[in-house]
Amino acid sequence: MGDPFSVAQRLSKLPPYLFAEIDRMKQEAIRRGMDIINLGIGDPDLPTPPHIVKRMQEASADPRHHQYPSYEGMLSFRQAVADWYDKRFGVALDPETEVLSLIGSKEGIGHLPLAFVDSGDIVLVPDPGYPVYQAGTVLADGIPYFMPLTRERAFLPDLEAIPSEVLKKARILFLNYPNNPTAAVAPRAFFVEAVAFARKHQLILCHDAAYSEMAYDGYLPESILAVEGAKDVAIEYHSLSKTYNMTGWRIGFAVGCRKVLSGLGRIKTNLDSGVFQAVQEAAITALSGPQECIEAMRAVYRERRDTLVDGLSALGFAVEKPKATFYVWISVPKGQTSASFASALLSDVGIVMTPGTGFGQHGEGYIRAALTVDVSRIKEAVERIAASNLTPQ
Ligand SMILES: *Cc1c(COP(=O)(O)O)cnc(C)c1O
Repeated sequence: MGDPFSVAQRLSKLPPYLFAEIDRMKQEAIRRGMDIINLGIGDPDLPTPPHIVKRMQEASADPRHHQYPSYEGMLSFRQAVADWYDKRFGVALDPETEVLSLIGSKEGIGHLPLAFVDSGDIVLVPDPGYPVYQAGTVLADGIPYFMPLTRERAFLPDLEAIPSEVLKKARILFLNYPNNPTAAVAPRAFFVEAVAFARKHQLILCHDAAYSEMAYDGYLPESILAVEGAKDVAIEYHSLSKTYNMTGWRIGFAVGCRKVLSGLGRIKTNLDSGVFQAVQEAAITALSGPQECIEAMRAVYRERRDTLVDGLSALGFAVEKPKATFYVWISVPKGQTSASFASALLSDVGIVMTPGTGFGQHGEGYIRAALTVDVSRIKEAVERIAASNLTPQ
């Protein structure tokens, strides 16, 4: 009497996708007639810069772009990526072998374990972390090993604390700086350590740099590929999504170690057929055109960040001003858990934030705010919290 629609076991090993659950709670609050301030989701609220949209409009009318694109991306796109990398990070890349287009970096992250992980192999995953590192691992029948990110260690994993039995079976090490959800940044010394560690233990090092351009106060994140010898073991993921407000367009790229990219490319050749060429043309314009839009984006988030962090600090919350990303990682008041505080914020004052535990067990005690609403709404959120009994004092 088997159920013909029972899903495969690997699906039941996945935690419920975090944002689906938040959305359910939010819909319920809206039904109750609440005015919701949504600081829950990391999706830029501002539009794609007009010069990028215009290039897309032109390119989409060109019949040459209406057929299947190449799997690895147009050479002109990969060249634009290599030029940007050289200019931005001082890292030289061969566009033919060291750049791969992705249908958003989430796609490339999620698919990577399929290329390198056999059943029972281990993947080292930050906790708390972007959920896709774990999901991609589980979908490849791999086993995630969670590396705690704690405030005491500035949200950098303690690589030396990973047991040797784990390292023997480990294939991939995922890192992400500037970090989602903690908003932490990594000093160059940590990248040097991580590259040496990956070389020593024969790990594929995957650095997710989705927030490399979203940084403030003169801080500019580096590429892990700038570390000597990194390209022998490491790839780096980038995305146009956050930098140019292009989450809906689905384009990103991976760069670095050619053997890793070639493995990932083989999975992709069998599962997808590349990125719409008009989108690649628009991405070329984004990467090689005027970059003032990035400075404008930083100014918007900086003002929102200061409004939220200064406001919450004044109310007694333990919260640091992030140097990068559009997230603020807030300690919940004593006596609350991440989940209880998230529910109370939503039901008492109509504010959506993401409980830290949605990103892993070590997210307990924290809540994540995304700076993706207008500064006037952030002010209002602070006022609502100030007038509630949800403050730490
Ligand atoms: C938003 C995000 C991404 C991916 O975005 P895409 O739109 O798939 O390119 C990747 N990593 C992290 C940590 C993110 O927050």
